[in-house]
Amino acid sequence: MHKHSNRMVILLFIAMGLILLGLDYCFVFQDNGSGQIKLSQTLESSQMEKVNDIQFTFEGTTLKIDAPIYLYANRFFIPLENVMSQLQGSYNKNGNSITIILGKSNVNLDILKNSYSSGNQVFLLKKNAFYSDGMTYVSLFDFSRILDLKVSWDSPNKVVSFFENREEVKAKAPIVNPTKPALIRLEDFIAGYRYTTDENLEKMRIVVDYLYNNGIPFSVAWIPRYVDPLKGLDVDIAKQNSLFNANFVYTLDYITAKNGTIGLHGYTHQYGNTRSGSGAEFPGSPNYNVPNKPKYVQERLENAIESAHRLDIDYTFFEAPHYIIKPEYLHMVEKRFDIIYQGNAKKVIKKRNGNHITWYIGAYLEFIPSEEDADISHLRKRLDNLEDGVLASFFFHPCFDFDDIVITKDSKGYPAYTYSEDSPLHQIVRDFSERGYVFVSLEEMKNR
Ligand SMILES: [Zn+2]
Repeated sequence: MHKHSNRMVILLFIAMGLILLGLDYCFVFQDNGSGQIKLSQTLESSQMEKVNDIQFTFEGTTLKIDAPIYLYANRFFIPLENVMSQLQGSYNKNGNSITIILGKSNVNLDILKNSYSSGNQVFLLKKNAFYSDGMTYVSLFDFSRILDLKVSWDSPNKVVSFFENREEVKAKAPIVNPTKPALIRLEDFIAGYRYTTDENLEKMRIVVDYLYNNGIPFSVAWIPRYVDPLKGLDVDIAKQNSLFNANFVYTLDYITAKNGTIGLHGYTHQYGNTRSGSGAEFPGSPNYNVPNKPKYVQERLENAIESAHRLDIDYTFFEAPHYIIKPEYLHMVEKRFDIIYQGNAKKVIKKRNGNHITWYIGAYLEFIPSEEDADISHLRKRLDNLEDGVLASFFFHPCFDFDDIVITKDSKGYPAYTYSEDSPLHQIVRDFSERGYVFVSLEEMKNR
């Protein structure tokens, strides 16, 4: 009863809001009295939190933000007018069109179309912009993209710092339809293990920038939930809001914006007392004690998909942890995913089920053996001996490159970095390129 009346009140507010604003695209919020802000979209159980314990800075100076900052599913939404009034740029609002000039950026934001244009190019916003209390709100990720800002996160001290990007980004355009295509998949990206510090997420974004700047499309096998039962750890970024988790989601958005393709690498990549990233999750190996039941498999698949939906992360493929999954369960995966990364097949396999097609893509060249010994000679040898027509596909744990990245901050806190050209990933990319291989996206492999 109570729940229903609450919903009615919310719907009423939404209707009123839409009439008042004359908008049908934007989100409208109302405080329901409990301090929680409800979102007008379908996720009525999710909460839009007001955030007031985080400091935002621009070029080292603290921003005085009087309007509320919101956090929803680990994405911040910031009041544009409030922030822009403190920056040395210009901000002009004309109806639903906003022109912003700041540093090297000169952009036009179209709130109704949820897009912005810079030069001749038009980009969609990741999250819908909206109005609340006379302010225009955009997500932090969109804000940083629109104005080409670098974002530096300090979760322990609750500070988020914006800087004008000092890096010269001149991305090479990917080569389309090459004769020797290759695939790279960044493996086991998760809010745990090596990805638990702001610095390492920054390094992840630097790896992503390196690939993007070199015109290399790539995939990322993302594990939605980190569980380590023996240490009592359970990090579910789809359900737990925190500054660090927001940094992780920001990094996922960053990956997508830089030609990365995200896939679901199981739900927790473990079962029972095993740790995420190390355990198996699906039945198929006698080495792991995983329930051999369709209902269990179904639940894990649903959980992974639901996490991506809650966080609004676009995913393209599925990859079973350690590729372990009984063949008889694959039809359940095929129903939900167009692409399954599985095993080390030499070629892309197209499987037709009625009207639905599933592409099986393997990583024949596999990976670098261990972090202590990220010796790439093994991979180079395999590449040299690759037969004609075999897909040059491998996977790589991006944290193997982190020791080759050094981040230094100046007095304002700008995170400059150096990235050794001898890093395992740099060497691999050179090896592939010297042998005439060209990295392509998964989507392109489907169409070949
Ligand atoms: Zn894995």
